[in-house]
Amino acid sequence: MPTLRLISTDYDGTCVPVWGGPQEMPCELVEAITEWRARGAVWAVNTGRSPALLNQAWGECGAGIRPDYALTSERDVWRPCDQRAGEWADFGDWNQRAAAEHRALLTEALPILREAIGVIRRRHARVRVLYGFDHVNGEGEPAGLVAESEEEMDWIVSHLEGLGPRAGKLSYQRNSIYLRFAHADYHKGAALAELSRLLDLSSGEVFAAGDHYNDLSMLDGTSARHVACPSNAILPVKEAVRRAGGHVSELPDGRGVAEALRRLL
Ligand SMILES: [Mg+2]
Repeated sequence: MPTLRLISTDYDGTCVPVWGGPQEMPCELVEAITEWRARGAVWAVNTGRSPALLNQAWGECGAGIRPDYALTSERDVWRPCDQRAGEWADFGDWNQRAAAEHRALLTEALPILREAIGVIRRRHARVRVLYGFDHVNGEGEPAGLVAESEEEMDWIVSHLEGLGPRAGKLSYQRNSIYLRFAHADYHKGAALAELSRLLDLSSGEVFAAGDHYNDLSMLDGTSARHVACPSNAILPVKEAVRRAGGHVSELPDGRGVAEALRRLL
């Protein structure tokens, strides 16, 4: 039986259902996490949400437990400074470094980014551009895109991939019809690796679960040796989890993750 010390779960579609009905966390998942916590594991929610949106979700999910750490915006690493108030503090200097590197990248890549957005909007006029590169800096710069359909976002992603070496470290994180421009070195997998480093853990002690493109970086077996996805995960996620020797559940969202965690007990 592996000894899990760190459980990293995406939130939307992985802990709670994305579509239809209330976004409640299944009791099976709460029980599985509680059981692993009793054995010494800590739990990090690894999400594209901001800390504020994560706290908002917490008010709605009825879980009764809170994560020990929050990895937010597919990048930042937080520890709680007041669990009951839902307040988070920087854990180490990772967040400052990430913000500085994103700022520098954006300055450098702005002409290419604007050009790419121009091409995308000429082809798909209803694509929305979100501004404000992060919540601290870069107000007014392009931060992301919202497409009207998965097919439209497929086209956008293929256009961005087509930039090739011109894009340098300019990358993106995709979740369904949403896309966030990002530094290629910062993603959920990198944030999870940093949290593991801060906690002095090896990847063999880490479990990760997710359901969408932006989860792929933590599901390839590198930052977490134990990986899983629920039945609602997109095909590329299921393939990545299988390649890494993980568990593809036939149960959806949090029930699927609970099953994966129970299998490891
Ligand atoms: Mg998700």
